[in-house]
Amino acid sequence: KLSKRLEEVVKHIPKGSSIADIGSDHAYLPCYAYLTEQIKSAIAGEVVEGPYQSALEQVKKSDLQHVITVRKGDGLDVISPGEVDCITIAGMGGTLIQSILERGKNKLEGVQRLILQPNIGTHKVREWLLQNDWEIIAETILEEDQRIYEIVVAERGTAIAPYHENKEAGLLLGPFLMKEKSEVFTKKWQHEKLHWQQIVTQLQNAPESEENRKKKAELHQKIAIVEEIL
Ligand code: SAM
Repeated sequence: KLSKRLEEVVKHIPKGSSIADIGSDHAYLPCYAYLTEQIKSAIAGEVVEGPYQSALEQVKKSDLQHVITVRKGDGLDVISPGEVDCITIAGMGGTLIQSILERGKNKLEGVQRLILQPNIGTHKVREWLLQNDWEIIAETILEEDQRIYEIVVAERGTAIAPYHENKEAGLLLGPFLMKEKSEVFTKKWQHEKLHWQQIVTQLQNAPESEENRKKKAELHQKIAIVEEIL
């Protein structure tokens, strides 16, 4: 059985898509997506030998070699322009996802939808999408095994549109998530706020420095954003 987190990612794939799942590890996502008739075909990309072997094994075990191709390579290197119409990248940090997209920009031609599930630093992903004309069309937040996950879905479009109310808060919290304000969302940001407040206290007790002062100002600003929305 697939994790709730990856199941939620799969829900956002347009039916009948050809997808690339980057950083696929066991290739659970593409196998599940095919077996539930969500996709036509998939490329599972992996840069590390161990997970690449796991992906090959899983695809073979599921007898899906004819529809799921496992390729070894860094980020979007494993696809050619126009080969897939949807890309999923799940279970990595936001900074890594951002750098994979940035480095693979020329491979995004023909791609209609990106489904991204950063484990941390989702604002990095939103910033990249905004700067590159990808419009967020949906977001999901969920809790599983005491961890909170965010999923960001984007298509080409007027990237700024979802941020019309409050861009700063939208980039940090998610334009859709902050509107929906679910229980899990509130829990996540109350927790983050508490954590930032603890750091501020630590900084207040530390020797004064320019860096220290800057860090405190940044944290105060983030705390203010969260307080305004919650
Ligand atoms: N996507 C799966 C999931 O969400 O359950 C696996 C997540 S796993 C924590 C992250 C995977 O990304 C690892 O298997 C790692 O080898 C792979 N990875 C990291 N950087 C990568 C890159 N630049 N290109 C392709 N795969 C990468």
